[in-house]
Amino acid sequence: MRDGIAVSQSWVDMDVIAERAEMIAALRWQVEAGADEAIFDIAVDRFAEAAKIKADVAAQKLPVPPDAPSAAYPQTNTSAQVESSRSVAPLAAADTVNQDARKIANGCNDLAALRTALAAFDGCPLKTTATNLVFGNGAQSADVMLIGEAPGRDEDRQGEPFVGASGQLLEAMLGFVDLDRTTNVYITNILPWRPPGNRQPTATETAACLPFLERHIALVAPRALIFLGGTAAKTLLNRSDGITRLRGKWYDYTSPALEAAGLGPIPAMATLHPAYLLRQPAQKREAWLDLLSVREKLDGLKTDMNC
Ligand code: URA
Repeated sequence: MRDGIAVSQSWVDMDVIAERAEMIAALRWQVEAGADEAIFDIAVDRFAEAAKIKADVAAQKLPVPPDAPSAAYPQTNTSAQVESSRSVAPLAAADTVNQDARKIANGCNDLAALRTALAAFDGCPLKTTATNLVFGNGAQSADVMLIGEAPGRDEDRQGEPFVGASGQLLEAMLGFVDLDRTTNVYITNILPWRPPGNRQPTATETAACLPFLERHIALVAPRALIFLGGTAAKTLLNRSDGITRLRGKWYDYTSPALEAAGLGPIPAMATLHPAYLLRQPAQKREAWLDLLSVREKLDGLKTDMNC
């Protein structure tokens, strides 16, 4: 009997262990897919939602909406669902937010004031899901300003741009052409708050934050700009081509904020994003060529200034 009890007990243990391993595997899968943050304080009960819709339909004899959540196939949140269930005010029209943001941003006369104004800005709902504002960092009078897409998990936690794996690769690449954050480089992103699960920024989020970035560039006033990846390049060059077409060329970047500050266009290079290079190491050669071109441009600008 003792052996019998021991055997059944060990089966129970094995079931618990197997169930735990399955739950850990499911969690790991979600983290790898980018769902690494709890968005809501309370879990949403999709089964209850589906039952309520069915009951309402039955009571009012309405046709079943085609996209009603199904208990058998729970749907993922659309952004509209996220906003309403978090009680976030509906997005103001992009134009309104943009104009308000421009007025606030252009009223800031230094980086400290711009950071404070951005921290107080409520025009982008990503602020409510992010852990920290990721404003930017680097050398006070930088030769080069780099602009990425948006903070990832590590950046969101630390409140600094490019501190995760892609930041490490970026620093190594910059080092080869005598560029680094402590002496001659400043880094920021298109968005100062992390989009949940590292999804791509939406056009509305980008439009809301753009006036702050434009003012940020005008205040740093670098000799050259580097746009890291398609989102930064397309947004700041106002182009729809992909990064493989845009990279490796020089552009003249300008903006209302630069013009308002009486500054002329800044030479800008678009290149591949370091996160992409981590996935496609064979493409590092192209990014390397772009950085060599940046080095050459900076050396040329210095020579021009000495003449
Ligand atoms: N990727 C970005 O575009 N920006 C960061 O700050 C980190 C990763």
